Amino acid sequence: MSIVSNSLKRIKPSPTMAVTSKAREMRAAGKNVIGLGAGEPDFDTPDNIKEAAINAIKKGDTKYTAVDGTPALKKAIQAKFSRENDLSYELDQITVGTGGKQVLYNTFMATINKGDEVIIPAPYWVSYPDIILLAGGKPKIVKCEEKDNFKLTPKKLIKSISKKTKWLILNSPSNPTGSAYTKREIEDLSKILLKHKNIYILSDDIYEHIIYDNFNFFTIAQISSLKNRTVTMNGVSKSYSMTGWRIGYAAGPKEIIKGIAKIQSQSTSNPTSISQAAAVEALNGTQHFIKERSNSFRERRDFVVNKLNRINGISCLKPEGAFYVFPNCKKLLGKKTKLKTDKDFVEKLLEKSEVAVVQGSAFGLDGYFRISYATSMENLKIAMERIKFFCESLT
Ligand code: PLP
Repeated sequence: MSIVSNSLKRIKPSPTMAVTSKAREMRAAGKNVIGLGAGEPDFDTPDNIKEAAINAIKKGDTKYTAVDGTPALKKAIQAKFSRENDLSYELDQITVGTGGKQVLYNTFMATINKGDEVIIPAPYWVSYPDIILLAGGKPKIVKCEEKDNFKLTPKKLIKSISKKTKWLILNSPSNPTGSAYTKREIEDLSKILLKHKNIYILSDDIYEHIIYDNFNFFTIAQISSLKNRTVTMNGVSKSYSMTGWRIGYAAGPKEIIKGIAKIQSQSTSNPTSISQAAAVEALNGTQHFIKERSNSFRERRDFVVNKLNRINGISCLKPEGAFYVFPNCKKLLGKKTKLKTDKDFVEKLLEKSEVAVVQGSAFGLDGYFRISYATSMENLKIAMERIKFFCESLT
């Protein structure tokens, strides 16, 4: 009999990490691979944030903290929600974890019973289904279409609801498509959710600040009648280039927030004290670089979308946010190119042209691939040339 648990058997390793490690192997073998697979900003953490961490070490903020976050960080998060989202929370409605990923994990571990369904619009961030499976739940994948900018429509939401539905996950701007929901679109989904009073909503707002063209970010907890059954998750990883610091947070109903802390108290305990001090500075300190960095990302998005749409066989929507695009490669699959699936496409692209991207099927939608443009313009220029050459060589 195998030593591994049944819950372990239910899940798979992260496919985005698999591409990154293949690219790393090729680089170690002397190949000049350009990685467009990583989900993290290429910018460094701003200096004021680093200094706050150094000061925390010097001051001796090196001990255990409250399991679910220091009072200073919770207050900074409370102020952030009020300032940026017009949402007011008490401190016991806020929790801090070791990255947004842990907050999500704890949320579902604290609330899911065997067989509970969680609606996950596809394409989705790779970890959602596996976290739900680990918690004993059933991911209900709802494929969203390119013609709807890969967003969940009210019609699809109605069809996906069953008596067992416990949660709906919304992620805006989205990983992997970059699409963001307008206020109107969220209101339309809300009308349905208001009729189904047992469904909770997990809003993953981690890309909130990476948004372009004056798009007005709106989050579902701002619909006041849904606030008491919405958990709004966010974090410092993407907005403040702090992926390695591992700080994520959430605000929501007290009962869930308490449950999250209980799980955390028996697993990791508090997130790193030093990272928490840095996150206080991130949230309370100057915010000027957010706009600057978004402008750089926007330039890169425009460049990449423009180049992709000039390649025969590829088409690509222009997304509102995040640092991903999700081009369609269906015309390059089939007998003519001898590539059956998007996975074949991505593997050949890596092997022949040394560009690492991730297949759409890893995110629950076949016939696409994800490009992360969180890398330098120089890299993007070379990568786009290589992708063009590769696609043209197929036909
Ligand atoms: N949610 C989405 C959609 C993401 O893309 C990520 C990271 O890639 C996370 C959550 C988790 O981020 P972190 O754990 O670094 O806060």
